[in-house]
Amino acid sequence: MFFTFRACMTLIFCLWISEAFSQTPRTNWITPFERDSSWSATQDEAHDFFLQLAVASPLVHSSPFGMSDGFLPIYEVIISANGLIKPEDVRASGKTIVLINNAIHPGESEGVDACLMLARDLVNLPTIRKLLDRIVVVILPYYNTDGGLQRSSTFRANQQGPRDQGFRGNASNLDLNRDFVKCDSRNAQTFTRLFRKWDPDLFVDTHTSNGADYQSTITVIATQPDKLPPALAAFQQSVLLPELYSVMDKAGWPMTPYVHSDGPPENGIQGFLDLPRYSTGYAALFQTLGCMPETHMLKPFPDRVRSTYHFLLATLESAYNHSEQLIDVRKQARREARKTALWPIQWVLDSTRMETLLFGGYTASYKPSLVSGLPRLYYDRNQPWHKQIPYYPRYASALAIPRPEGWILPQSCTKIIERLDLNQVHMYRIKSDTLIQTAVKFIESEKTFTGAYEGHYPHYQVEVREEVQQILVRAGDIWIPSDQEAIAYLMATMDPRAPDSWFAWNFMDGILGQKEYFSAYVFEDLAAEILANDQKMRAELELELDARPDMRKDGDAILDWVYRKSDYYEPTHRRYPILSIEDAIVWSLKPFDGIYP
Ligand SMILES: [Zn+2]
Repeated sequence: MFFTFRACMTLIFCLWISEAFSQTPRTNWITPFERDSSWSATQDEAHDFFLQLAVASPLVHSSPFGMSDGFLPIYEVIISANGLIKPEDVRASGKTIVLINNAIHPGESEGVDACLMLARDLVNLPTIRKLLDRIVVVILPYYNTDGGLQRSSTFRANQQGPRDQGFRGNASNLDLNRDFVKCDSRNAQTFTRLFRKWDPDLFVDTHTSNGADYQSTITVIATQPDKLPPALAAFQQSVLLPELYSVMDKAGWPMTPYVHSDGPPENGIQGFLDLPRYSTGYAALFQTLGCMPETHMLKPFPDRVRSTYHFLLATLESAYNHSEQLIDVRKQARREARKTALWPIQWVLDSTRMETLLFGGYTASYKPSLVSGLPRLYYDRNQPWHKQIPYYPRYASALAIPRPEGWILPQSCTKIIERLDLNQVHMYRIKSDTLIQTAVKFIESEKTFTGAYEGHYPHYQVEVREEVQQILVRAGDIWIPSDQEAIAYLMATMDPRAPDSWFAWNFMDGILGQKEYFSAYVFEDLAAEILANDQKMRAELELELDARPDMRKDGDAILDWVYRKSDYYEPTHRRYPILSIEDAIVWSLKPFDGIYP
């Protein structure tokens, strides 16, 4: 074999480059933020950093996992020792799984930069790398890749850096932190697949907050504890949160609960009700403890990144310190959830359970606005204070419903079936047509958003009435037993009165429209005949007319009343299609075989 001198030199040069790269001390891996602390890594820079880290270290695995609405890849980064990159292998090894989500709001990008440093340090620093003995870290480096593509220095009007910020909406202009249940976006569908694949023990979703000014650089929203099974709530409140607050204090980043208040914080702050539409609320449906660190927009960007870094590190350390306990507590919580007979589906702030909280604020005051001349609020940073303030962290059940034996979902509800399937809900197909006698819900009344909200016109304040009817369940309809891991997810979505139910999110608005009507001049004679033959209805009409005197002057209204009471009125108008089955019914079933049978 013959090599030219030039080819030999090229080969030697390539070998030298490759050798030099592999011997580069990894402490020299500088992130874009570390190079310029006014800069937050773009998604390309973040993905590239992780890909290079994955080339350099067997501990890191980075690859596209799914797509956004704008068909941009959403990456999954796995940081794990001993080559464990499959969830089943990680579970078998007894390790705890921590999932970190960044840039759901791309203008709030501290987590992106913090995770680059954290991943590098997990690889490089023995004191941090030892955490991988008991935990596996999964990172979504940049969830809202669509919003990350649009960068501007003006998207976050009040925020102190970075120089460029991404945009909150995704390619469909949806806020992904409202999309975890309705799952409209391809981003959310990708997230759901990843979340259910890993079934993490701890979940962190990084954010930046706005609102009042105060002293802490970083605050945290933990899962609302009243919504958690007792075992998990106890672990979160007695073990995890005290440890996180203490570690952050020692690290020089004293943290407070997220400042959720109607006025200045000294008037009192409230716990945040993280409904399932939000990330931690969704995570809680699968007994995953969630935290949303929220750094304060008015603090310098470098401080926000560094405090987020320390928060993430503290979370990993807690997962490491309590690895076995956390896994056991989740198992116990799952058992508790499956045994729970009465499920709250609506919540209200419990104003009777006031606590106090030592809080560091700035004096709030008013001065004339230079814009309007009217009094305007401002916080005087020259007048800091520390004092106990009222704190309302708890929520009480406003409506609780019994857990049914299961649900029957008509096969026509394909969009719901898709989402249940994505969430790994166990479902079956009913094998043959079956006539059953069961309680059926009717939507008695509801209120509806008058403006569009996240691609919907959601319903709220939903009232139902129940009637026992004979219903033909068709072969191919879906049977969903309630005794399963996804019980909390099902209880939060299947009843129309739940704030994040399928009904609330407009998945079955078809039932609200009446399809058949009558011609008044023809129905007049029939209505007269009906009333003549039905004395009970006649008496009911008289009572109605007594109660609504104006109706006596409205012939059409009286005719419509008779029509609705008669057999001619369509039985499915406002009838809620999901049946909650209270009694065990022995169905002839076959395994769920995909959305289109
Ligand atoms: Zn946010």
